[in-house]
Amino acid sequence: MRILVSNDDGVYSPGIRVLAEVATEYGEVRIVAPDVERSSAGHAITHSRPLSYRRTTIQGLTAYRVNGTPADCVSLGAHQWGKVDLVLSGLNIGLNLGNSIWHSGTVAAARQAALLGIRGVALSAPAGAEPDFEPYKPWVRRVLDTLLAETSLYLVNVNLPREPRGLVWTRASVRRYDGRIMPTEDPQGRELYWFTVTPVEGADEGTDRWAMERGWISLTPLRLDLTEEQQFGAMRIRHPLDESVAAAVSPPTTSPEAEKTVRDDEAAHAMTKTVDEPAVTQPVGD
Ligand code: MN
Repeated sequence: MRILVSNDDGVYSPGIRVLAEVATEYGEVRIVAPDVERSSAGHAITHSRPLSYRRTTIQGLTAYRVNGTPADCVSLGAHQWGKVDLVLSGLNIGLNLGNSIWHSGTVAAARQAALLGIRGVALSAPAGAEPDFEPYKPWVRRVLDTLLAETSLYLVNVNLPREPRGLVWTRASVRRYDGRIMPTEDPQGRELYWFTVTPVEGADEGTDRWAMERGWISLTPLRLDLTEEQQFGAMRIRHPLDESVAAAVSPPTTSPEAEKTVRDDEAAHAMTKTVDEPAVTQPVGD
């Protein structure tokens, strides 16, 4: 089994080394991670400049550093290696609970794997565990034993508390946002703002945050389809639009031309588009 290990804290983070060392017990390991810290980079990808892929070494392990985002590292790493069976992302320095799933680069790396059809697991540990993540190794083994046995799981967000008591399945807690903006100023007295995380007190039972507060390792299966199923169903009944007409008059298969047009529209930034419009001529001045 080929295991690609990535993160968002950078290739030289102590967390990625510990995760990669455990991963070697399960298969062939290759580390591909950002050359600098890209925490909170979310699922950004780099499309306006080329990326480098440079060989480095982490404790005798095969490793590459990339001047891109965590999602870039997974895409490029999978491309360079050919076939990858599993992507592990972490161990992140700092938990990724609930709303953090949206901006976490750690989760994004695992999610990029899932988008490529590769199983992805994100693992995050308390920020205070840096630099000694060694005590988490037995727990990481138990997490991997659990997840690898369940082949239907394609994307899982794992968080480890300070002193784990065991493992539980959880759901993401997005009841309240834990972000706060603190105004401050620069040495010249100009306004600046710090984005910061503030503790959220209390969490719904069975959520990832609930598990952390009680000392359980949290395993949250995530989905790629973000459709709000309840509202989707309710809207189709309460506020039908042109669905029936669309179904009746739309051809069963799209034409190659239509597919190409949509692909071009998606890639607006990267495409140089030829527009069949008359050139705009400057009015002749009087
Ligand atoms: Mn991070």
